[in-house]
Amino acid sequence: MKHISILGSTGSIGVQALDVCENLGLSLNALTANRNIKKLEEQIRHCYTVMPADSRPRYAVTADPTLYLDLKGALADLSVQVLAGSDAICEMAALPKNNIVLNAIVGIAGLCPTLAALQAGKELALANKESLVTGGNLVLSAAEKNNVHILPVDSEHSAIFQCVQGLSNPAEVEKIILTASGGPFYGKKQSDLEHVTAEQALKHPNWSMGAKITIDSATLMNKGLELIEACHLFQKKPEDIEIVVQRESIIHSMILCRDGAILAQMGAPDMRVPIQYALTWPKREPLKTPLLSFKQLGRLTFGEADEDAFLCLKACKKAFDMGGLYPCIANGANEAAVAAFLQGKIPFLEIGRTVWGALENLHPAGNGSSLEEILEADHLAREYAGRRFSEVC
Ligand code: NDP
Repeated sequence: MKHISILGSTGSIGVQALDVCENLGLSLNALTANRNIKKLEEQIRHCYTVMPADSRPRYAVTADPTLYLDLKGALADLSVQVLAGSDAICEMAALPKNNIVLNAIVGIAGLCPTLAALQAGKELALANKESLVTGGNLVLSAAEKNNVHILPVDSEHSAIFQCVQGLSNPAEVEKIILTASGGPFYGKKQSDLEHVTAEQALKHPNWSMGAKITIDSATLMNKGLELIEACHLFQKKPEDIEIVVQRESIIHSMILCRDGAILAQMGAPDMRVPIQYALTWPKREPLKTPLLSFKQLGRLTFGEADEDAFLCLKACKKAFDMGGLYPCIANGANEAAVAAFLQGKIPFLEIGRTVWGALENLHPAGNGSSLEEILEADHLAREYAGRRFSEVC
C-alpha cells in the first residue's frame, strides 16, 4: 500500500486529492493546512469515520504556530499527533513512512516542503507550480541527486507527461502546445480591464480553484508560470512552447512530434484525473469522472493569447529569458500583487504592471543556486511591490 502525505489538504487541490486517496485506498501519513484548522479538523474526523485504522492520518499540521493549541484541543479525542509551523510541514514532507508526497500548497511557501520531500528521496506529486518557477534548477537537481520523480499534477503538465509516455526518446518532441482557457476576460483589451473587480476576476469559466490561481488565470500569469514550469519539467525553451487558447478546457495540452504527429490528452475538466495519474503512475486506475461526449460538445474553439492585454504572460517569458532569479522576482511580485488586489488595495491592471516593474527595476544577487538567494529575491520583490502600492494607492 502507498503511504502519502498531503501538504495543503484544505485547499482546492488538497480536497480533491483526499477524495482520490480515499477511493484508491491509500494510507495517509499527514494532512497539513495554513490557518483553516476547522477544515483540517473536519478532514481528520472524516478519515477517522471512513478509513481503516492503518490508513488514517497520523499527523495534523497547521503552518501557523499561534493555532497549535486550538488544533490540538479540537483533535484531543483522536490519536492524531498535532504539530505547527513551517518546519513541521517540511518534516511531514520528509516522513520516513511516505512513499509519495503531494504538494498542494499555494505560492512560494511550497518551495521548502518540495525540497524537503525530494532531499528525503520521496516521489513528489507536484501541484505547487511556484516551487519550480522560483527554485527550478535547485528543485530539479534535488530530484536528480536523490533519484526520484517529480510527477506533475497541473493539468497541462500532466497532459504533456501523459502524451510523452509512449515515446522512446524525449528528443522526439518537437514542440509543446500548452493550452489555456483564456480565463474570464478572453478577448478583452487592456482598456476593458481597467475597472475589473475581484468578484469578476474570481469567476473562472471552466475550473473551480483556489483564489490565487483563479486570479492568475484571469491575468494569464498562470499561463506564464506554467510556461516556466514546462520549460523545467520537459527541458524545453520558451520558443519550443506554443500557447494556444482552447476555450472549453477539453484539450489539456498537446505535443508535436518530430514526424508531424500531434498527440493530445483530453477529457472533461476534472482535476482528480491528473491528481490520480500522479499518484498511480505508471498505472491507471478506475475513476468516476464525467465522461466527455464529443457529440454533445459539437466543436472545440481555439484562439490566441493576447500578450499586450495580459502583461503577466509577456513578463513571465521575459523573466525566463533573463534567467537566474528573475522568475522568482516575477513570482514574488505577483504573489504580493494578487494579495493586494484581493484586498481591494490595487486595481486589476496593477498586477501585471507590478510584475513587469519588478523585472525592470530589481537586481537580485546570485543565480538561484541556493535557497537563501531565492528567499532573498522573493523578499526583494515583495518589498518592491509594497513600495509601489503605497505610491499607487
Ligand atoms: P488553495 O488556495 O485552494 O489551497 C492552498 C493550500 O495551501 C491550503 O491548504 C492552504 O491552507 C495551504 N497554504 C496556504 N498558505 C500556506 C502556507 N504559508 N504554508 C503552508 N500551507 C499553506 O490553492 P489551490 O488548491 O487552488 O492550489 C494549490 C497549488 O496547486 C497552487 O500552486 C496552484 O497553482 C496549483 N494548481 C491548482 C489547481 C486547481 O485546480 N486548484 C490546478 C493546477 C495547479 P489553508 O486552507 O489553511 O489556507
